Amino acid sequence: MSETLTQQVSTFEQMQEGRPTGPLVRGYEVIIGFETHAQLSTASKIFSRASTAFGAEPNTQACAVDLALPGTLPVMNKGAVERAIKLGLALGSTIAPRSVFARKNYFYPDLPKGYQISQFEIPVVQGGTVSFFLGEEQKSVRLVRAHLEEDAGKSLHEDFIGQSGIDLNRAGTPLLEIVTEPDMRSTAEAVAYARELHKIVTWIGICDGNMQEGSFRCDANVSVRKPGHKLGTRREIKNLNSFKFMQQAIDYEIRWQIEEIEDGRAIQQATVLFDPDTGETRAMRTKEDAADYRYFPDPDLPPLVIAQDWIDRVKAQMPELPRAMAERYVTTHGLSAYDAAQLTQSTAIATYFDAAASTSGAPKLAANWVLGEVAALANRLEVGIDDVAIPVPTALGTLIRRISDGTISHSGAKTAFQEMCIRIEEQFDDLAAFIDGIIETKNLKQMNDTGALDTIIGEVLAKNEKNIAEYRAGKDKAFNALVGQVMKASAGKANPAQVNALLKAKLG
Ligand code: ADP
Ligand code: MG
Repeated sequence: MSETLTQQVSTFEQMQEGRPTGPLVRGYEVIIGFETHAQLSTASKIFSRASTAFGAEPNTQACAVDLALPGTLPVMNKGAVERAIKLGLALGSTIAPRSVFARKNYFYPDLPKGYQISQFEIPVVQGGTVSFFLGEEQKSVRLVRAHLEEDAGKSLHEDFIGQSGIDLNRAGTPLLEIVTEPDMRSTAEAVAYARELHKIVTWIGICDGNMQEGSFRCDANVSVRKPGHKLGTRREIKNLNSFKFMQQAIDYEIRWQIEEIEDGRAIQQATVLFDPDTGETRAMRTKEDAADYRYFPDPDLPPLVIAQDWIDRVKAQMPELPRAMAERYVTTHGLSAYDAAQLTQSTAIATYFDAAASTSGAPKLAANWVLGEVAALANRLEVGIDDVAIPVPTALGTLIRRISDGTISHSGAKTAFQEMCIRIEEQFDDLAAFIDGIIETKNLKQMNDTGALDTIIGEVLAKNEKNIAEYRAGKDKAFNALVGQVMKASAGKANPAQVNALLKAKLG
């Protein structure tokens, strides 16, 4: 093992000191670290001008550089570097002023050069953290690094009988490999981390996030230990390309490792694959060490130098980040940190909320509606919040206005919202007229006439002397019962807040 790696392993060990113990599984603590390959959304490859578009005929997007023809030289794609800088800025990392491309040597048919260009000793992005909610609990996972590298080609085993084909379209596609400390303590935390990272890379637009096409794939390093013991030996589950498989694979791996240890066998460091058909992980190869790759700086590429003004220029183009946006929702709208985090799960949700909140003039109510009724509808329909089947946010905002100004109650608004969904394809010029029309035809108006309410309250009080006595004796339940009676007598049309106030006044 090389000097740097030995150091890194002992650092991992030291870095875990003082971290809280996670939930135990059959008496074992679970330790997880992630390596994620995010495919960068550049139009051309990292060291050549060939296209990175997905799905082309094999080898139609592999140029002389990708084919490793003699005499060709790599030229670095600035767009890829810029995307790495964006990630570093988003996660509070250090952007290395000078980083180095290295050759990672190994033989594989889909790697015509015989080496992969990557970064080893000095990566472009160093440190940083990914913070997210696990349920209501705030977690943060520290990054070790993120480095630029090229993808390899693909072997095609299924298209031919008795032989394999090689497709080099993917060779040279830019990747950012994002490596965490072994900071995660459960499957749920690991999946929440992956979701958060996925959100960030798509939010800042450096990766399209398409997991089926392999644009975002995760390797999960998993080990178990008795609490207080030193880190156990890890096995690395490769290429998890769906959150569901990720969860199944890690759960299976944890159980398998504990079984092995309980049966008296030691865990061997290994690379494993998850088979979705059986739900099991299977050893692919024993793990190589860095020394096996004979890393050395690539003499064809100069060191990557990033001056501060380049970083500043990139910073100026960055969108507001989800975390900053969430903080703004907390301070300016008075939302809870949890709700703010939910509303910044994607740009689509945040954009929807912004529009609904500003139309409604009642951001807190708008937040409740977006996270409640609207999210439930999107879930039910299995569509995104920006789908045409979801009422436009300005319509929701207008509806919320009618709650705020007392025209309708919450339950009335729910009925109106359902009606809006049914009439989703209707064209309307005037939103307020459309909503008011629904309120009118569905007869949802609250009773805001105090005279009429007074009469109803008088009738209810006359019939409920027992409740009045109980209320006067200090029973809150009796008061609620009276409110209920009035609501019932008004066929649900009375404004509950008004009923409360009037009743209190009358009962003195
Ligand atoms: P390599 O590049 O050879 O896979 P690294 O030492 O860079 O190995 O570590 C890879 C990943 O494994 C990192 O995400 C790290 O957090 C994680 N890791 C290291 N040790 C452990 C361990 N004992 N249990 C779980 N994960 C670990
Ligand atoms: Mg690895």
